[in-house]
Amino acid sequence: MTSQLITLGAIRDALKKCTSPHAEPFMSLLKNGKNSPLKCAKSVKDRFGPTDDDFPRVGKRQSPFGTKKLPSAEGLRDILLNELEAEEGGPVYFPPPWSEDEGIDMSAEDAAAVLINNITDPDYQADGLIPNLPCPTIDDLCHDGKEQGTNVLYETYTTCSVLSSNTLLPLQHHNETTSFSTLLTGSIVWMIWPPTEHNLSTLQQAYEAFAQGFDPAKLDVAPDLVGGVAFVQSVGEGMRIPSFCPMLGLATKTSVLSTYSIFTADVFVPMLRRIPLLKAWWQTEVNGEAKRLDFGAGISDCLARILSGSFDKFNALKDRHVPENGPLHTSLLAWDEVKDDLVGIMDDETAKATRKTWTEFLIAVIGRNCAICGKSTQSKKREMGKHFDGAHWPKQQNAAKRVDSMELDQVDEDGDNAMVIVETE
Ligand SMILES: [Zn+2]
Repeated sequence: MTSQLITLGAIRDALKKCTSPHAEPFMSLLKNGKNSPLKCAKSVKDRFGPTDDDFPRVGKRQSPFGTKKLPSAEGLRDILLNELEAEEGGPVYFPPPWSEDEGIDMSAEDAAAVLINNITDPDYQADGLIPNLPCPTIDDLCHDGKEQGTNVLYETYTTCSVLSSNTLLPLQHHNETTSFSTLLTGSIVWMIWPPTEHNLSTLQQAYEAFAQGFDPAKLDVAPDLVGGVAFVQSVGEGMRIPSFCPMLGLATKTSVLSTYSIFTADVFVPMLRRIPLLKAWWQTEVNGEAKRLDFGAGISDCLARILSGSFDKFNALKDRHVPENGPLHTSLLAWDEVKDDLVGIMDDETAKATRKTWTEFLIAVIGRNCAICGKSTQSKKREMGKHFDGAHWPKQQNAAKRVDSMELDQVDEDGDNAMVIVETE
């Protein structure tokens, strides 16, 4: 068994051998006194949070493939070519080949096929990458080894990202899930930062600056982030990344990364508090408005499941009282604080459904008081709708909705997202 590449020496070696112009800036992040290798002191680890699960992990134990033999590079190529053919509507490929200089007339599918055909060459270089190709065949191979989360709101199928040698995955935040990415071929150097207020507000400001004119230099704030940990991910190793960690990656060899993600009810409320960051990020995305509305609809469904008591020990609609901890409790506590941001990203229909979910819950829940603020009522059935609208629903909701539907008309359907390599469905 080879040893893990999580020390400063090992990371430095990998970057020294790398011919990418991004290797030097990456190296300088390790020298600026703000970051360290993954093998680090407890004080560095603690910045990520109080539990072991808050800290990024890499190793064979994190891989759902377990002791199973991984497909060879040739085998992988054939699997991916098949998946590419099966992909309805064509693959996502970034940047789209037709946006390059004149003289290139290749479809995204052809460009993706060329890249996949070259994954057997560790030094192959291409301008583009495939961010998330759905891979049922790979999912079948590793399905039994996937982590069984508790309180799972949703889990994604396995997708594969294909990166040629020297491809940089630019600075971005990890999405709301915990993701598990196994390197099937290649080598990638990673830097993962803790999702602290400083780091996330730095990133949010960078997204906002980038959205004004799309100057990529505005996103180059990695030197300002603090507490990152770096490592080299080798073939067969799985990487576990907690939600919202800022991250940066550099493929030093042609790489294929297979990823699945889990979103749990326990991170639902912490995620709601990140909506300002997400709003800034959607502005940087070509089809960000559509993503934002999809996200709002997904969140509305998750909220309905939490309010229905799916994740609590007893049912607040039938038994005793509202639980004093757990996802329902934290959602009740946080609602007034997050309601403006959350309802602000929803379309009309989703907002309506969310309001209905809440009022039905507040009427059905045990006791005579409002479960959010404790106000007592004579008849919940008669009074709760009005109380909810007055006390627990955004005031500006109707005006905001009209602006949203205008923006939605202008969404460019062609663009897609190259930044998020571990994207959710
Ligand atoms: Zn109330």
